[in-house]
Amino acid sequence: MSTGHLTIDLGAIAANWRSLNALTSCETAAVIKADGYGLGAGRVAAALAKQGARIFYVAVAEEGAVVRDALGERAQIRVLTGHMKGDTKLLADHNLTPILSSIDQIDRHFQELPDHPFGLQLDTGMNRLGLEWDDWAKVAEPALRRKPVIVMSHMACADEADHPMNPYQLDVFHQMTDGITTPRSLAATGGMLLGADYHFDECRPGIGLYGGLPFQGARPVARLDLPVVQIRDLTEGEVVGYGNSWQAERPTRLATLSAGYADGLLRSASNRASLWAGNRPCPLVGRVSMDLITVDITDLRDDPASLALLSPEQTVDDLARAAGTIGYEILTGLGARYTRRYAGEASRFGG
Ligand SMILES: *Cc1c(COP(=O)(O)O)cnc(C)c1O
Repeated sequence: MSTGHLTIDLGAIAANWRSLNALTSCETAAVIKADGYGLGAGRVAAALAKQGARIFYVAVAEEGAVVRDALGERAQIRVLTGHMKGDTKLLADHNLTPILSSIDQIDRHFQELPDHPFGLQLDTGMNRLGLEWDDWAKVAEPALRRKPVIVMSHMACADEADHPMNPYQLDVFHQMTDGITTPRSLAATGGMLLGADYHFDECRPGIGLYGGLPFQGARPVARLDLPVVQIRDLTEGEVVGYGNSWQAERPTRLATLSAGYADGLLRSASNRASLWAGNRPCPLVGRVSMDLITVDITDLRDDPASLALLSPEQTVDDLARAAGTIGYEILTGLGARYTRRYAGEASRFGG
């Protein structure tokens, strides 16, 4: 088999949810948008439901429908882009709860699904989604009378603990919501780590569940092993790959591995990342191409059958740093060609 092998540790995801949940005394939801940050929303949701998670967030209604099939009727599934034109049937058929973020959405929702649950999102300074002060002042009373499941906002800089935007948004959220009886939520992973002031009634971690920063204490979740397709020896001075971007400065043993930018292995990692044979790093040399990468294995004693791109030695954040991006992008870019295996689950369904 020539595709890479992606192993997803559901036990580690469950442990990360429990660790984050233990930081708070409020409800801990789980964000599983973008197919569970690339790791499989249905499997992740089912594993977390077993741990006691009851609220799941997806980005769009279509994702929610898939998660509903995996979870059955028990859980609440909330849609962060709210109630878009054309969503009504999906929201109703799969019992999805839209988080409404504008007066247009609120009007649409109350007209098309008047008795259907909903939440509200306020903007406290990020300027991405959510009602601003003026609109909130107009609709707060009638909207709250219909008993939303949550009033939330989202933080722009919570991954930087000392950023002044954090207390600023906290203050704005208080000003916009103090005195209401609806449950409130402000924190994603970063906000959870800022302390209890930020927790309110519910936290919404995503990246921390999947082993990514800023949750330093996270257990790694994804392991990616790439098979070696061919091995060759180069003399000093020979060049490797498109654009001749790497040249051997010594006699070099070179392995060609099956994975490339079509699998989400970012081209910006060319000549910067490492592949690992156990605890020994082997430099990725030359350009990442569509389906292949080339790796300097000169210093290994034995020829490997495969090398690891993600492992405890090189986490998603290590790889992200090498490629000039963030762990979120590495995870959500993991390619469709990898053979996926789920590990670390006591049993697949039930018990
Ligand atoms: C993505 C997202 C989250 C989760 O954020 P993480 O940084 O991955 O924990 C929570 N809330 C909203 C509104 C989001 O868009």
